[in-house]
Amino acid sequence: MKRAGLLLYLGVLLFTLTLSFSLTSFAADDRDRDSVVDVNRDASKPTKKIALTFDDGPNREATPRILKILEKYDVKATFFVVGWRVYNFRDLILNMVQNGHEIGNHSYDHPYLNKLKDDEIKKQLQMTNTAIEKVAGIKVTLYRPPYASYDDRVLSIGSDLSMELALWTINPEDWRSPGKEIIISRILRDAQDGSIVLLHDKTQTAEALPTLIESLKEQGFELVTVSELLKTP
Ligand SMILES: [Zn+2]
Repeated sequence: MKRAGLLLYLGVLLFTLTLSFSLTSFAADDRDRDSVVDVNRDASKPTKKIALTFDDGPNREATPRILKILEKYDVKATFFVVGWRVYNFRDLILNMVQNGHEIGNHSYDHPYLNKLKDDEIKKQLQMTNTAIEKVAGIKVTLYRPPYASYDDRVLSIGSDLSMELALWTINPEDWRSPGKEIIISRILRDAQDGSIVLLHDKTQTAEALPTLIESLKEQGFELVTVSELLKTP
């Protein structure tokens, strides 16, 4: 009796194992079917998108270095520029446009927009758009308020000017100059598909850029402009 019980137990166990194996095979077949699609896809093609953004420029120290590195790696980025600087560094603005980078509005002289009166907010944004339009002949569609200082009034004035608010999802605090290694590791730690990285036209940021770009590319990221990122479904 004891022996029959053991045999029954073994029988049930075998049946269960066979059943679960067949089910697993089914699941594996499904996976195989999916992976056929994956195999046909070019494995070297990036699958994730990330946008590097550079605020507060242009300036004569860091901006030319950043532009050179981006060009070397064939990477497109977005520059949120300060209006008065646009007139002072026309050549750099033109370089950005010629190399396929995006230019966004970062106000005329970097105030807290939410502390200004409505007409002053409008002036900050409009004067910067005018500067970019005069120098580069392009219409700006994105704006980023300095210090992310926005409220309902800023948002409504921005949309009156047909512009979209563009903040960020990763802030490595590069403006504090914490060292290029820290800037890189903070970004790599948080990078994911759809991330927007807040950077600045600063020397350490330029120094961090080659390794940062190489690492992101190795991880399968395509580096795109903010508008390109936002239009991705
Ligand atoms: Zn700023």
